[in-house]
Amino acid sequence: MNNEQIWQAVLGEIEVSLSRANFITWFKDTFISSFENNRIVLCVPNAFVKKWLEEKYHKNIISALNSVTKQEIKEIIYKIELKKTTEETNKTIKTENTTEDERGALFKAEQKLNVLENNSSFSVNRYGLNSKYLFENFVVGRGNELAHAACLAVANNLGKSYNPLFIYGGVGLGKTHLMQAIGNEVAKRNNKILYTTSEKFTNSYIQAVTTGKAKEFKNLYRNVDLLLVDDIQFMGGKDGTQEEFFHTFNELQQNDKQIVLTSDRPPKSMPAIEKRLISRFESGMVADIGKPDTETKLVILEKKAQEKGFVLEKDVLIYIAENVKNNIRELEGALNKVIAYHQLKNIEASVESVKEVLGDFISNIQARSMSARDIIEVVAKFYNISSKDLIGNSRKKELVNPRQIAIYLIREELNSSYPAIGNELGGRDHTTAMHAYNKIVNEVKVVGNEKLKQEINSIKQLFNQSY
Ligand code: ADP
Ligand code: MG
Repeated sequence: MNNEQIWQAVLGEIEVSLSRANFITWFKDTFISSFENNRIVLCVPNAFVKKWLEEKYHKNIISALNSVTKQEIKEIIYKIELKKTTEETNKTIKTENTTEDERGALFKAEQKLNVLENNSSFSVNRYGLNSKYLFENFVVGRGNELAHAACLAVANNLGKSYNPLFIYGGVGLGKTHLMQAIGNEVAKRNNKILYTTSEKFTNSYIQAVTTGKAKEFKNLYRNVDLLLVDDIQFMGGKDGTQEEFFHTFNELQQNDKQIVLTSDRPPKSMPAIEKRLISRFESGMVADIGKPDTETKLVILEKKAQEKGFVLEKDVLIYIAENVKNNIRELEGALNKVIAYHQLKNIEASVESVKEVLGDFISNIQARSMSARDIIEVVAKFYNISSKDLIGNSRKKELVNPRQIAIYLIREELNSSYPAIGNELGGRDHTTAMHAYNKIVNEVKVVGNEKLKQEINSIKQLFNQSY
């Protein structure tokens, strides 16, 4: 194995033991630059990541390295060094009124925020396109036909067929892939393309305003031919940003410049987004993307295994397709794990051996459709208290508030009945649950408590990261 292969195998091991967000944050853009005499130089993109890996993940990395290389690694030297990607040297965005420097600064600010991006890209280039997401490697099947057709139409008829195109669906179902595929297709003939996430848009807007660069910001976003904004639901509750986005949107739409948006839910179900924006979002085409059927999953598995030069028997593929149910990202994770395991052990894959490798993985995934308990746990974690205290009897303010928020979120996210919520919350009466729910609704919708709204939004983001 060369360094790249070793590191990919190590990442494969580490990936399954961490949440997606953590994995991407800490391991994106890392690579091995040298491996000699059982010493490894591991390159990381910045000091922040270096510190975390050294302090928190060193042990995991060492043990994964030992198991992959079947050697005793003596030392890892963490070094700050950026990965060179070929795309980086390619085209740049041309906008009329912004100087190269100003754009550079904005892009840099955006790139800093890239770390939490919701995809497994390890080579994001300057304007956010990732060359691995193409129409060619997107498998069309039940669940994604409509979204796929709409994206193709948009890519071939920019600004003229459906504008905006709004794609929504659950995590890991291919929204980012399709959206990026439009970008990559259009990039063949046009270079004023900008891919961003609503979080990056928000942060880069705030940064622009606070550094007196609002004008440059406007110029950047309003002078593209194709604007791709991923996970627009996270703009919820951020009023200043929504205002700015509203104007960007109008300007682009009026000039027949294409806008593509994705979200985890349909426009109407985004309560924290302004009405006028929601009606804009609905003014083009809204396409949903649903879970794939087994047939589609099989094709995807076959294709991805092939890409990695690995052949799996049909019965093995069927076993994986039938047991990994939630989404395609998990399907890929399972496949990677299977491949890594069999390559390292140098044995043929059988349903038996795959069962063994995927045992924990599959039961973890199955436990992962969100429950009231999960919500309680995430809320408790967010407020730095224990779940036990959250559902306990203490009337301390630091506990009562999170308790009410958990009740509110269980009701909102799972649509649970008040008696059921009361039960989950340590056997409380249903009127308590109802009272708590109404209190938070009132704070959010009537009083307009911004701090609370933000907190709730952040908690919801944590849900998305872990489920
Ligand atoms: P989302 O943005 O909806 O959360 P992604 O677009 O990030 O999901 O998809 C998750 C992973 O699954 C990506 O690696 C993507 O390439 C892959 N994927 C999703 N749908 C398909 C598909 N139909 N064919 C091939 N790969 C897919
Ligand atoms: Mg996505």
